[in-house]
Amino acid sequence: PETITLQDLAQRMNERVADVVKFMIQQGEMLRGNDIIDADTAELIAEEFGHTVKRVAESDVEIGLEGEDDDPKDLKSRPPIVTIMGHVDHGKTSLLDALRKTDVVAGEAGGITQHIGAYQVKLKSGDRITFLDTPGHAAFTAMRARGATATDIAILVVAADDSVMPQTIESINHAKAAGVPIIVAVNKTDLPDSNADKVLTDLLQHDVQVESMGGETQAVKVSALTGQGLDELTDAITLQAELLELKANPSRHADGVVIESQLDKGRGPVATVLVKRGTLERGDIVVAGSQWGKVRALVDERGQQLKGAGPAQPVEVLGLDGAPDPGDSFVVVDTEARAREVTEYRIRSKRQVSGKAGAAARASLDQLLS
Ligand code: GDP
Ligand code: MG
Repeated sequence: PETITLQDLAQRMNERVADVVKFMIQQGEMLRGNDIIDADTAELIAEEFGHTVKRVAESDVEIGLEGEDDDPKDLKSRPPIVTIMGHVDHGKTSLLDALRKTDVVAGEAGGITQHIGAYQVKLKSGDRITFLDTPGHAAFTAMRARGATATDIAILVVAADDSVMPQTIESINHAKAAGVPIIVAVNKTDLPDSNADKVLTDLLQHDVQVESMGGETQAVKVSALTGQGLDELTDAITLQAELLELKANPSRHADGVVIESQLDKGRGPVATVLVKRGTLERGDIVVAGSQWGKVRALVDERGQQLKGAGPAQPVEVLGLDGAPDPGDSFVVVDTEARAREVTEYRIRSKRQVSGKAGAAARASLDQLLS
């Protein structure tokens, strides 16, 4: 992946290095000027500082991994991928747990039992929604920065007894920077001292204008504790998804993004991936970050083995030779030789940018910012 030092980035933005470092510390990232950040993080920082960003020369394009563009007639609608954001203790985890229970497949095939970093529910209507369920460490890590691109809709959870707080504002900024529409979930409305209207008014000051205030952002009153309002929330997500007209071609070589990975004692390297396009199948040869392997098994959040996983479907992949990094992209290639070639290229370019030769690699980033 392309990289740049914090210092170079600050220089190119005409900002003081100290200000960029300070900003990163506020995001929970202790970095120094000569630390290297990747292009996704650089892009988000640049946007936070009000710059327009133009990306050039994706390494995957250089090595021809992008694949053909899809014919519009092959595109089928796909489920939305939803991230839950908000201030600490406002109920993100509780809401994710409550939403898990809206799944109607639970009765048939056993409920969602595994934590794999994302899960998909099937609603009574038959619609599906994929929720990202990755640990909410520092809000602005490279992982989150890339994760944002894997997100179609952000649910902004705001506790009705606490209203807008610093991480609420941060979440709004991240969603806006990533161009992801927000749905407001006013949570804890079961509490006697809850004040949902105050939340909606407070949000106005941060450029989130909900429908009842004449804006376009949907807002739903919920209680993760009692389950109140969850149907309205899933309806709001489905409606937003329809507006976005989310589509993908399920009949092609798969690609997508790694959202979690681990070295499992019994199973070896396990990566949870989210398929963006195509269908990932058992037996496919996959390159994920700088790891590769032949897919030995695909396991879903119910612990069930799958033959294939289509667009927006989260799935655990077994058979890689190592654990890729969260945020890494994955792609299916034709042959093992090709997989080896690509991973060697990636390992080489990683080594290059971390060594003295980094200058050359960084030079290719000269057009990163415009
Ligand atoms: P997170 O930090 O945003 O993930 O918040 P949690 O889901 O961990 O919730 C923080 C606290 O708020 C926990 O004690 C929850 O039980 C409580 N909580 C979450 N949702 C609700 C709700 O709708 N009503 C009430 N009364 N409490 C809630
Ligand atoms: Mg939590």
